[in-house]
Amino acid sequence: MSKFLAEKHGGLAPYIPGEQPKDTQYIKLNTNESPFSPPPSVAKVLADEGELLRLYSDPENTRLTSMLAETLGVKNDQVLVTNGSDEGLNFAFMAFCDGKRGMAFPDISYGFYAVFAKLYGIPAKKIPLKADFSIDPQDYIGLDENIVIANPNAPTGLALSLTQVESIVKGNPDRVVIIDEAYVDFGGESAVSLVDKYENLLVTQTFSKSRSLAGARLGMVVGQAHLIADLKAMKDSTNPYNVNRLTAAAGCAVLQEKEWFEGNVKEIVSTREWTATELKKLGFTVLPSKANFVFAKSERVAGRVLYEKLKEKGVLVRHFDKDGIREFNRVTIGSRAEMQTFLVKVKEVLEEGK
Ligand SMILES: *Cc1c(COP(=O)(O)O)cnc(C)c1O
Repeated sequence: MSKFLAEKHGGLAPYIPGEQPKDTQYIKLNTNESPFSPPPSVAKVLADEGELLRLYSDPENTRLTSMLAETLGVKNDQVLVTNGSDEGLNFAFMAFCDGKRGMAFPDISYGFYAVFAKLYGIPAKKIPLKADFSIDPQDYIGLDENIVIANPNAPTGLALSLTQVESIVKGNPDRVVIIDEAYVDFGGESAVSLVDKYENLLVTQTFSKSRSLAGARLGMVVGQAHLIADLKAMKDSTNPYNVNRLTAAAGCAVLQEKEWFEGNVKEIVSTREWTATELKKLGFTVLPSKANFVFAKSERVAGRVLYEKLKEKGVLVRHFDKDGIREFNRVTIGSRAEMQTFLVKVKEVLEEGK
């Protein structure tokens, strides 16, 4: 930190993204990207849109917004398109929290929530998970803080039912409840269906996990128009052209590929179930995941050791050096072939440990 950094940023603890190795030899199962390339239609629209790059992008994101609204069954003014869903979350922290109005979230969840809280000097209330790593909705009723919950949660992969989510939204009528649905397409129940009923609900989703556009940075927030207008004010006060032309065009193209999308999701889900079964055969404890990753641990090898040995063998997974989950690794579901190799390497590590 330079001597010029403002004093209020003294305690900053920036988000540490998963490794993005420059040498491509790794089987990359560490940041929950899709193993599938975007459909060919994306390359085509990018070539056309490239011609227009001298012009600013549409600050209203009119086309993508209305396509998304139609896909999700909501109105145009109930959707804000963002530069990754991280940006939507950022706007929500900015808009609805301050030094007095804090944010509550599970103590084991997406690391960015604590980062935003620190950045803005927002008190963070970290609510422990239950012993089985699930979220107890009862812990989230009548809070003083706004609330953000990843559903399915990361890195556990466990999901709340729609009824449980609704109880939280209903139980905090004067607080904003944000449901982060980065992984919802892999088996969760979306709270978008509740948006018309609750004036305090926001839902974020992303094109990064199930729609193969992590590198394009595209996300969305859905909620009633008054909340979306507040978020839009944050956007227009920081970065009005937040979604670039190429990304918007890619997003529109991908949204039209319904069969491609559904096929990929189905494939990931079946590969996830197969991987979980195989890991259990090797003696692993595997949490029941509704996401595109599994969270698993073995009595036979420490979490960090498994992570390091797999890396030596060319397979990258995610290890969190954090109390309560240190023995686990989070493993993104790749292609069937990648998961086969992953399992071979896991077996090798277990053998070596004997
Ligand atoms: C990946 C992820 C995000 C961020 O996704 P982007 O759209 O790529 O910014 C948000 N929340 C959770 C829980 C995630 O895992």
